Amino acid sequence: MKVRVDAGVCAGFSACLGVCPEVFELHDEGYAVARVGDVPKELEEAVRQAAAQCPSGAISVSED
Ligand code: SF4
Repeated sequence: MKVRVDAGVCAGFSACLGVCPEVFELHDEGYAVARVGDVPKELEEAVRQAAAQCPSGAISVSED
């Protein structure tokens, strides 16, 4: 699974950090970034939840 955050869409609500701090972190400029491109198996469900809960729809996940 791959994940990315669209910095232009992210509004810095930090919901994703609350759900999966292992993958998401807040950049100095106030938007979230994904620390990994390839999501470890054990974190896939948390990343899916973070994407579903992001108020801006800034997190995209691809299942390959
Ligand atoms: S939940 Fe969405 S809007 Fe909020 S910091 Fe994460 S990616 Fe950005």
